[in-house]
Amino acid sequence: MPIVNRYIPFRTFAAVNIFGLIFVKKGYKFTEADLRHELIHTRQMRELLFIPFYIVYFGEWLVRLIQYRSLLRAYFNVSFEREAYLHQAERDYLKKRPLYAWRHYLRKAPAAQNASSRR
Ligand SMILES: [Zn+2]
Repeated sequence: MPIVNRYIPFRTFAAVNIFGLIFVKKGYKFTEADLRHELIHTRQMRELLFIPFYIVYFGEWLVRLIQYRSLLRAYFNVSFEREAYLHQAERDYLKKRPLYAWRHYLRKAPAAQNASSRR
């Protein structure tokens, strides 16, 4: 169950998953899709034994920052986020999800970006 509070996550973020504990900012309407999104992250964390997850996440975010030159676009394009956003609407995704599924999103850019880069 999410922990609703005033302080975590910082600033304008609505929810964050820290070692499998989900923190939700007070006043934010946390949806089922949000919960599935965070549970996908928990699965990714377990696969990487937690600490390495954060190292890989942050390292990829830095690479994406150089690639996209935008904090937000870098965030949305981290492979862990690509997987979580793409599948958060699927109720039974975690039941059928292959192990280490996030690695398939390392190279796969979202459809909109493929379209814009294809000129
Ligand atoms: Zn996320």
